[in-house]
Amino acid sequence: MSHTVPPQPGILQIALYEAGTSHLAGRTDALKLSSNENPFGPSHKAREAVARSVHQMHRYPSTDHAALRHAIGEAHGLDRDRIICGVGSDEIIHFLCQAYAGPDTEVLFTEHGFLMYRISAMAAGATPVAVGERDRTTDIDALIAGATPATRLIFVANPNNPTGTMVPLDELERLALAVPQAILVIDAAYAEYVGGDYDGGADLATRLPNVVMTRTFSKIYGLGGLRVGWAYGPREIIDVLNRIRGPFNLSGPALEGAEAAVRDRAHVEHSRSENARLRVWLARALADRGVPSDASFANFVLARFADGATAEACDAALREAGIIVRRVAGYGLPHCLRITVGDEASCRRVAHVIGQFTAARAQIQVPAP
Ligand SMILES: *Cc1c(COP(=O)(O)O)cnc(C)c1O
Repeated sequence: MSHTVPPQPGILQIALYEAGTSHLAGRTDALKLSSNENPFGPSHKAREAVARSVHQMHRYPSTDHAALRHAIGEAHGLDRDRIICGVGSDEIIHFLCQAYAGPDTEVLFTEHGFLMYRISAMAAGATPVAVGERDRTTDIDALIAGATPATRLIFVANPNNPTGTMVPLDELERLALAVPQAILVIDAAYAEYVGGDYDGGADLATRLPNVVMTRTFSKIYGLGGLRVGWAYGPREIIDVLNRIRGPFNLSGPALEGAEAAVRDRAHVEHSRSENARLRVWLARALADRGVPSDASFANFVLARFADGATAEACDAALREAGIIVRRVAGYGLPHCLRITVGDEASCRRVAHVIGQFTAARAQIQVPAP
């Protein structure tokens, strides 16, 4: 490709992000379990708030997001002045790379880490560096060993996508303390699904000068289409990110919908408890059918097959049955399929089809008498 005006170095090396498939040719009833969306959708209060907001669409939206930051601060017990909102957490990942990474710096993450870390690092002209994991789990020692004086950002999704595994917060603290020249970004997109007293890294981001936590409305809040995420961290870092944020980055409907959503704690709790129950059910059902997975802390399971060809064949069988799951070869996991935990009927349907697939395979492998 020849470019009359060449883009900045690194841009043309970016591999385009491939989203989970959302349609199957010739089918209108496909079951989509490929993008970790909430099967219950958003809070009805969020729907109503968005509907009301259309009457104000001729108005420019809030530029400081004060009302939304206030609601988030209340729901999580956080200082609203240390919160920034973005067009999904993707935009905040982008801000972090633009502000803190660049030529001659490195951005660190793990081998099965979220693809946006690499994309945003390269967009900023930085060098992306991936370190190995241990049994599909973040390896803190590998991250510490992988850091250099040029490391500026370390991204750890906790729980991670697409593995579903997580590491304890004291391990993340150890990492932040060991690499003071870099900002540790704890991507807590799935934090609400963990339950217990897991705070997504909020306490670390309160105490340590080099820890930022990112969160999203795209997962448990069921608002992926609205595009709202946020980050919490040291005042100085939030101030830096606000300088590169567009003044009207979030639309009025997005701000109104997210604010209503974060105030509806009952919807979050219902989504969390149903997911916890069905995640256990799905993982067991798959294991019973010969398909293991690691203990997941998120709203998906990573189903493991003997090899890439088997995973691909199972994916084809699922598509044939009208079910879309996520192939994760692009994440270095060609022998796996990531399956979103849907509602109960969806979980039963996907387990049934995978059971048929493995039973048919087992029969083929039995030698003829
Ligand atoms: C889904 C997801 C996000 C959320 O992205 P948005 O831009 O907020 O929709 C962030 N990080 C990880 C690891 C995710 O899986």
